[in-house]
Amino acid sequence: MKIGFIGLGNMGAPMAANLVAAGHQVTGFDTAALAPEGVAMAASAAAAAKGAEVVITMLPNGAILRAVAAEVTPAMDAGAVLLDCSTVDVASARDVAAMAAAVGLGALDAPVSGGVGGAQAGTLTFMVGGDDASFATARPLFEVMGSRAVHCGPSGNGQAAKICNNMILGVTMIATCEAFALADKLGLDRQAMFDVVSTSSGQSWSMTSYCPAPGIGPKSPADSDYRPGFAADLMLKDLRLSQEAAEAADADTPMGALAAALYARFVEEEDGRGRDFSAMLPRFEGRRRA
Ligand code: NAD
Repeated sequence: MKIGFIGLGNMGAPMAANLVAAGHQVTGFDTAALAPEGVAMAASAAAAAKGAEVVITMLPNGAILRAVAAEVTPAMDAGAVLLDCSTVDVASARDVAAMAAAVGLGALDAPVSGGVGGAQAGTLTFMVGGDDASFATARPLFEVMGSRAVHCGPSGNGQAAKICNNMILGVTMIATCEAFALADKLGLDRQAMFDVVSTSSGQSWSMTSYCPAPGIGPKSPADSDYRPGFAADLMLKDLRLSQEAAEAADADTPMGALAAALYARFVEEEDGRGRDFSAMLPRFEGRRRA
């Protein structure tokens, strides 16, 4: 397939490289990043999009996505699909889909889970919003870049699934970290705590698959001095998106709001910036009640 790929950063570069390795013809554009191997770079986003059957975007936020979409949609052939894999707000995803539909294009919002490791290995999970025909067009690309694509409904529903998932993740990580810190103060051994909780009703992915305590459970960023992994800054971005969406939809999300406030303090006032999001554990270890 002929593909335009805009945004070749930490995630986009390995995703584009996997498409090239699978035999697709990829033309890329990025304002800063270098070309991944096998990707021909164009001079503008519009030039990368011209003649492509699918244009993939993997960009930092909704404002940048809107600007790029406004530039590329007039350059795309009728019937082509704009496939956004960035994590952005639901409103931007829906507005960009409407912008695409207005000029006869298909559009999908398809944020991912799995991080840079999943992007490199081609094992991402895609959470997809948009119409059936566009989903069918993009399916072979999801199969190259990932191991699972869930069609979640109309435009915006992929982003809705992503922020709901990550709100749960932020909340369970904080709960797991504060429970470890409490266990320490009660004299409970961390390995015993893991052995109980990972097989009991307090179990979650944060404990079982990504344990925030060094040396306990499967290998995780806690074992590499909390180098990310999934950076606390990115968790904060996703929690803020969930709170914006909750505000717009009049949903009551007090735990999500508290998780957003704690990650904001951790990233903006403490030492969380650039550390893995599980570094909440050393943060709690040294603290008394705030
Ligand atoms: P990144 O900052 O490494 O990459 C973004 C790229 O977009 C950069 O290379 C930047 O130069 C480029 N860019 C910015 N503005 C542009 C423009 N106007 N035109 C063309 N290119 C432009 O970020 P990333 O880690 O690759 O994340 C990309 C998206 O994926 C984000 O929305 C992020 O939330 C999401 N995400 C990241 C992870 C992760 O673990 N890194 C996991 C899941 C989802």
